[in-house]
Amino acid sequence: MESGANGDSIEKLQGLQITPLDDDDEEEREMVAYEYEDDDEDDGEDEEEQKPVTLGFLEKPKNRWSLLRHLFPSKAGGPPAWLDPINLPTGRSCLCDMCGEPLQFVLQVYAPIIEKESTFHRTLFLFMCPSMACLRRDQHEQWKRPPEKASRSVKVFRCQLPRSNPYYSSEPPKCNGTDKPSGPGVSLCNWCGTWKGDKVCSSCRRAHYCQQKHQVTHWRSGHKVECQQLNLSSPSSDSNLADAGTTSVASNSLWPEYEMINEDESEYDTEMSEVNGQTNALVSKTGVDDTMKSLLDSFEGDSDRRSWATFQEHLAKAPEQVLRYCRSAGAKALWPTSSGQLSKADIPKCSYCGGPRCFEFQILPQLLFYFGVSNDVDSLDWATMVVYTCESSCEANVSYKEEFVWVQHSLSSVP
Ligand SMILES: [Zn+2]
Ligand SMILES: [Zn+2]
Ligand SMILES: [Zn+2]
Ligand SMILES: [Zn+2]
Repeated sequence: MESGANGDSIEKLQGLQITPLDDDDEEEREMVAYEYEDDDEDDGEDEEEQKPVTLGFLEKPKNRWSLLRHLFPSKAGGPPAWLDPINLPTGRSCLCDMCGEPLQFVLQVYAPIIEKESTFHRTLFLFMCPSMACLRRDQHEQWKRPPEKASRSVKVFRCQLPRSNPYYSSEPPKCNGTDKPSGPGVSLCNWCGTWKGDKVCSSCRRAHYCQQKHQVTHWRSGHKVECQQLNLSSPSSDSNLADAGTTSVASNSLWPEYEMINEDESEYDTEMSEVNGQTNALVSKTGVDDTMKSLLDSFEGDSDRRSWATFQEHLAKAPEQVLRYCRSAGAKALWPTSSGQLSKADIPKCSYCGGPRCFEFQILPQLLFYFGVSNDVDSLDWATMVVYTCESSCEANVSYKEEFVWVQHSLSSVP
C-alpha cells in the first residue's frame, strides 16, 4: 500500500528499536488495550469492546444503475446520490470555507433508523476540500463552538425522508435496473455533478453550473464545441436528460467511484478470515501482528503509540476497511493516537434541536488509497475522520442538516 496510515506506519515501525518478545505477549496486549479504554473517559463500561461495528469496504459498482439515488446506495467517490433531490445544500454550505472552492464528494452512508417514521430513509453525506493546506487550517477551526463560527474544509450532512415521500416509491426497489425515481431532481452542475446547477450557460441554456468557475472550466475543456452542437439540436432531445437519476459529469477531478459494501466486524474475529482469501490485503496480517507486538513491548508508556497499536490491531482484522460504523449507545471512535482525540464533553450539541450528538461512523485513511491520492508531503492525508450526528436524528426545516465531523490528523505529526 502506497498511501495512508498502514504504509507509513509499517515504515515507521521498521525503523524502531525492537526488544525481544515474551511468550505471554498476547495477554499483555489485551491488558494494554483495556487500560487505554478505561482511562479514556466517563462511564468506563466494560462492554465497550463488544459494540457491534459494521465495516465498509469499497468495490467497483456492479451495474451502471446500482449507485443511483433511488437505490439508496452507500458509495464513495464520483458524484453524490442525493437522497432529497430537490432541496440540496446551497450557498456557503457547498464551499470550502478556507479557499471558497466547491467541496468535493467523499462518501455517503445509507443509515436508516427503522424505529422512527421520519428516518425510514436516512443518508449521511461527507464532503471535503481536496487541498491539504485547507485541511491543515481546518484542524484549528474544528475546536470552535457556537456562537463562534468555525470555517471548515470538511462537512457532513444528514438527510432523511419518511417512507411516504414525493421522491421515491414506498415499495422497495427491485434492483434489476428497472427502478425509477418518482420524480426528477434539480439540475446538477454539469461540471462537478455534485451541487445544484442554478446558473445556466447563456448560449445553449442547457448546461447548468454551481459556480461560474465550473462553467469556465467546462467551457475550456470541451463545452465550447458541445455548446454549438446543443444549439443546433432540438431542445426537446435532452429535456429528460436532467434527471433519470443521472447527470453527466464532465469533470475528471472527482475521486473514482465505488460502491460501499458492509460487513460486520465480528465476521473477521476468527482466524478464518485469513483463510477466507485476504489475498488482496493491503497489509499482511502477520506483518502487522508482529510489528504491533514489538511496538507494545517497546512503548508501553507512550499513550500515543499504544493507542496506535490498538487501532492497528482492529485494522489488521480487515485491512481494507475504509469505514467503521456503529450507532449503538455509547459507541466510540477507534482513535489512532491518543492526542488529538475528541472527548465526549467536546462534541458540540446538535445545532438544530440542541440535543446531544453521538458517534456514528469514522473514516479511515485507506480511503485515500482507493482515491489514488499520492503520498507526497502536500497530499491529502488524515489519521481518521469521525462523524457525530444528532442522537435523536431530529427534524428541522432544512433538508440537509449539517452534522459534526472531527478530523484527527495523520501519524506523521505524532511526536
Ligand atoms: Zn479549500
Ligand atoms: Zn459545479
Ligand atoms: Zn452552453
Ligand atoms: Zn438534533
